[in-house]
Amino acid sequence: MTVLRKNLIDGEWLGEAGSRNINPSNTNDVVGEYASAGPEEAKQAIAAAKAAFPAWSRSGPLARHAVLKKTSDEIMARKDEIGRSLAREEGKTLAEGVGETIRAAQLFDFFAGETLRLSGEMVPSVRPGVGVEMTREGVGVVGIITPWNFPIAIPAWKIAPALAYGNTIVFKPAELVPESAWTIVDILHRAGLPKGVLNLVMGKGSVVGQAMLDSPDVNAISFTGSVGTGKRVAAASVEHMRKFQLEMGGKNPLVVLDDADLGTAVDCAVNGAYFSTGQRCTASSRLIVTEAIHDRFVDAIKERLDKLVIGDALDAKTQIGPVVDQTQLKQDEDYIAVGRQEGAELAFGGDRLERETPGFYLQPALFVGSTNAMRISREEIFGPVANVIRVNDYDEALAVANDTPFGLTSGICTTSLKHATHFKRNSEAGMVMVNLPTAGVDFHVPFGGRKGSSYGPREQGRYAMEFYTTVKTAYTFAG
Ligand code: ADP
Repeated sequence: MTVLRKNLIDGEWLGEAGSRNINPSNTNDVVGEYASAGPEEAKQAIAAAKAAFPAWSRSGPLARHAVLKKTSDEIMARKDEIGRSLAREEGKTLAEGVGETIRAAQLFDFFAGETLRLSGEMVPSVRPGVGVEMTREGVGVVGIITPWNFPIAIPAWKIAPALAYGNTIVFKPAELVPESAWTIVDILHRAGLPKGVLNLVMGKGSVVGQAMLDSPDVNAISFTGSVGTGKRVAAASVEHMRKFQLEMGGKNPLVVLDDADLGTAVDCAVNGAYFSTGQRCTASSRLIVTEAIHDRFVDAIKERLDKLVIGDALDAKTQIGPVVDQTQLKQDEDYIAVGRQEGAELAFGGDRLERETPGFYLQPALFVGSTNAMRISREEIFGPVANVIRVNDYDEALAVANDTPFGLTSGICTTSLKHATHFKRNSEAGMVMVNLPTAGVDFHVPFGGRKGSSYGPREQGRYAMEFYTTVKTAYTFAG
């Protein structure tokens, strides 16, 4: 029997059954039933968060440390169970699901520590006898809107700093992954958060999310998702003069130079382009390869792709799980058709796959003979699809890498210190990788991009403070 998971509003679990969650590896498997909030519930959640802010923002580091540490410990202790549940609802492999769960525990642990390290500055004023203090305070009610591709890590990297710096939260997760969102909120709630500090409103983006955008009582919004929705968040936030932070798409280049170690380059490309079914905003979707290594690189990738095990996410042997749902699968297939129409050559994969259970299985697809002007090079596909762009030399590779409306991550595979250093300095991306996949980042350092990929301060690490706090400058004349 499926248990109904409810929304958390002002410390109470509320709501009726609204939506069912389907396992993408087996569409006969219903993961659970979830309440679906409407605009009224969204308003109640915002009001509860607003009422809880004064006390929580003054609660001091120990209370916040206790909740965040306890949450980290429980997530870590339950990593296998939570990781499995994540893999079941999103379709990433068991190893990826457990890895992401561990990442969430690490994020809560990191920000638990940060509660004890918050500091300010004190300087003498230019006026004798006057002191100036610069301190940081919570922003207020933070709206957190998250996508489906990292169902637990993205909520964790927003919720943990928001709470650590004394904010209260209205959290709206993506419709496709309510179980992971509910689990993390349940743990935080039982860890001792006062009522109203964290509110969960599962439901439609166009309803619950929109109600958050339209509310004058939401003081900041941290959003990860599509460019289209990001622009709506931006426009609505300007209207209310609220702080906002956007993480959106990517079209990340991986440059492979003639002097690269072939094994390293293939590992980076296969991991970056296809792991997590290519459903990462940091995925390497453009493989920019110089002449002399091009054919060897393409042959080696095809050989590797042929050996990859694509199947049920919950099968321990699986290396690539299914696509998340029917809509995303159609988008992937449409782009594969677009690539062919544009004249790129499909060198590997791209077909639907049948497995024991009905699911959204797609063979990883590799295009060769593509140009950077093609739609498959310019638009984010968000699936296991990558294309190789052949270039003459490093200078052309760098120019092609930067010729994109996005700027989240970039990578280069080379043994040349000169080219690696030049690329790090000149790549127009927020994160640059040398001899590493474009996807896969640490939890204690800044995450974010440039151009159409991101807007606002960086997430994660100590840099997260920039978004989740506001600075106060106080002057005192003691007489
Ligand atoms: P994706 O393509 O990754 O699903 P979306 O931008 O559609 O990207 O979704 C990311 C998050 O934004 C989800 O939680 C979704 O429900 C939410 N969302 C969608 N539309 C709106 C909207 N109009 N206002 C606020 N949030 C929205």
